[in-house]
This record gives sequence, C-alpha cells and structure tokens, in this order.
Amino acid sequence: MKNKIETRLALYNIAVFASVLIAFSSILYFVVRDGFYADLRSHLQQMADGVVSSIDYEHVDKETPLPDLIVSELPASVSQSLMDLRLQWFDKNGKLSIEKGTLALDMPLNRSGGYEYQDSPRAMVFTKSVVVENKLLGYARVAQPLANLDRSMDHIKLGLFLGVFFASAISGVGITLLIAKSMQPLHANIARLKQFTADASHELRTPIAAINANSSVALKYSDGMRDSDREKFEMISSATNQMGRLVNDLLQLEQVEFLSGNHAPSREVAVILNEVRKVLAWLEQDKGIEVMLEAESDLYVEADEEDLCNVVQNLLENALRYTPPGGRINMSAVRDRANITIKVADTGIGISANDLSKVFDRFWRADKARSRVAGGYGLGLSIVQSIVTRLNGTINVESEIDIGSTFIVQLPSAKR
Ligand code: ADP
Repeated sequence: MKNKIETRLALYNIAVFASVLIAFSSILYFVVRDGFYADLRSHLQQMADGVVSSIDYEHVDKETPLPDLIVSELPASVSQSLMDLRLQWFDKNGKLSIEKGTLALDMPLNRSGGYEYQDSPRAMVFTKSVVVENKLLGYARVAQPLANLDRSMDHIKLGLFLGVFFASAISGVGITLLIAKSMQPLHANIARLKQFTADASHELRTPIAAINANSSVALKYSDGMRDSDREKFEMISSATNQMGRLVNDLLQLEQVEFLSGNHAPSREVAVILNEVRKVLAWLEQDKGIEVMLEAESDLYVEADEEDLCNVVQNLLENALRYTPPGGRINMSAVRDRANITIKVADTGIGISANDLSKVFDRFWRADKARSRVAGGYGLGLSIVQSIVTRLNGTINVESEIDIGSTFIVQLPSAKR
C-alpha cells in the first residue's frame, strides 16, 4: 500500500515534468523550424533577384535567342551551390526559356507568384513576375532542395527527444528518491499508529471478555431478577459482543500486515470451504438461505490454512448477512492455470456501481439503512484484502443492486 502511493506520486510527478518538457521542446522545435524557413525564403528571394538582374531584357521582346543566365552575376553563395538548385526564366507566355541547376522541378508555373513546396524531391519554390513600366516581361522561378533543412530538423528532433527522455528518466529517479525520503516520517507515524491500534486492541480484549463473561453469568442466573435489570444486562452483553468484534477485527487488521509470507501448506480447498460452511451453518438455517458448494477436488493454494479460512469465512458471513431470507449462495473453487479461483456469489441486496470501489476501504459500510441488517464495522473486507494481497493473490467484486454480489478471490495454486 505504501509503495503504491509512492509509485503513484512519483508517476504523476514524472508525467507532469515530462509534459512540461515535451511542450517546451515542441515550441522550441517549431520556433527553430520557422526561423530556418524564414532564412530560406529570404535566400530564395535573393536568388530570384539575381536571376532577374542577370536577364538581358534587350532580347526579351526580340525574336533573337536569350543569353544564358549569367551565373557569375548571382550572389557568390548562390553560384557555388548552383548545381543543387534550379533557376528558371519563363517568358511572358509562361514558356520556359532558360534554366540552370540540377534540382528536379516539375511543378507547373504559378503565375501569381509567391512560395510553394514540392513534395518529391522536397523543395521550396519561389516565383516572381517581372513587370517593367506596366509591361510583363516574364517570370523568374527559383527552387532550393529542403533535404539539408529536413536533415537538420531531424537531428534537432532526435536531440530534443533524447533530451526529454533522459531528463525525464533522471528526474524520475530524483523524484522517486525525494518522495521516498519525504514519506519516511509519514510511514514511521503510520507504523506507530498501527502499533498503538494493535496494542490498544490487545489490551482491550481482556476487560471486554471480563465484562462479557460477567454479564453472561448474570443473565444465566437471572431468575428473580427484575425485568429492567435483565434488559440492562442484555444490552451490556450485546454491546460487549460488538466491541469484542471490533477489537478483534482491528487487531487482526494490524497483525495481518506484519505476518511473514511463509505459509504452512493448507488442506484441500474443498475441505476448507466445507468446514467454513459448517461453522456458519447456524446463520444459514437461521435465515433460511440455501448455500451450495461446488469445488473441484485436489485443489491446494499457497496459503496458510487459517488465512484461507479467514478469507472465506468473512466472504460467506457477508453473503449470509446481506442476502434476504430465501436467497441462495454459491461457493465454488476451480483451477485457473497457475491460480485457484474461489467465488462466493449471493442473490442478496447487492452493491451499487458507485460503491464497488469503496467496499475494501477500512470502516466503509454501504448506506446505513441498507446495511442495518448487520452489525459490522466495515473492517471485514479490508482484512480479507490485506490477507489476499499478502498471499500474492487478488480479490475482485462484481455486483448489482437487488440482484446479488460475487466476490472473486484468486490465489496462487500449490502442489499438494
Ligand atoms: P461489515 O462488517 O460492515 O460487513 P465489510 O468490510 O465486510 O464490513 O463490508 C463492508 C460493506 O460492504 C458492508 O457494510 C456492506 O455494505 C458491503 N458488503 C459486503 N459484502 C456484501 C455482500 N455480499 N452483499 C452486499 N453488500 C456487501
């Protein structure tokens, strides 16, 4: 339980920290990418200007062939990497007249100009129409491959991803250690509180037993006793019985966690279920409830016999308590691969879907009016869950109001 809380706390912290890092990295990534694209756009514009200035417009209106693009007149950086680019000049009718560079570019001319992207190979394309004295002379189009930029962005992405991963992992270790450290005093206090509860319950058992014994003796020899006195003794007896049960439950709850995990091999599960049933036969007859037992033979669990009895007895007792007269209870045990599944199903008052998650909480009882039938303190199922967890098993419940409840316990199977 304590580890569960610490793990959950650590996971929440790491999740928040990792989310902040992911958000930060994503913003950084997009800002850097936008910066690169803005640089690239101004670079393309420069090149387009270079193309425009290298065209000999004297030839444009004449039928004579146009001179080649004068690469030397382009900016130095452009002329160096010209082979990777594409520089094109289209005449006013959109016919490609001159071009330079090796970049494959098969997009149709966009006469309205501006930036475009080519998918394969990835490239940024800029088209500029050249108008002089209200006369369209033609279009300059330049394209630059995006492979290098994509590669750089991939590196940045990988760097950010690894950064987030390692920062989360390192902070995860730190957070876990810090939480463990800061929870230490809390655990010490809880342990002291548990010890106190166990000690107090233990100390209370003797006086409660004494009061109970005395009131029982008084009730046994009640001849000649006034009715009002007998009633008082009956009240004392009933109250001490309840207190005795609470004190026993508390003691058991605190002891369960401190017991060792070494189990004496139990007898066959079917035999134990049958014995528990016999112990509670009086309640069964009292309430007129039919209890069925269907257990496969030769099933053994990795559990101390007393623990198993405790679990089954608590579940059967609850089923009997919360099932109205005339109802049915089905106890079963089957092998389920490496586990033994024990079920206690009743046709009782059921538990609402909202309450299902609370039934194993200490001192939790369903709405008092519905549970008035019984005088428990809401500790039985907490004890059962603690025992089952200590035995490396699981317990679950399925229930529907007014239809019934099924408690399902899974325990590791053992060899005989
Ligand atoms: P209690 O001593 O009150 O029975 P438990 O921890 O055993 O304490 O059970 C907690 C609550 O869960 C009960 O008060 C009851 O409301 C509900 N509950 C337990 N078992 C059943 C059942 N078989 N059918 C309906 N409600 C149940």
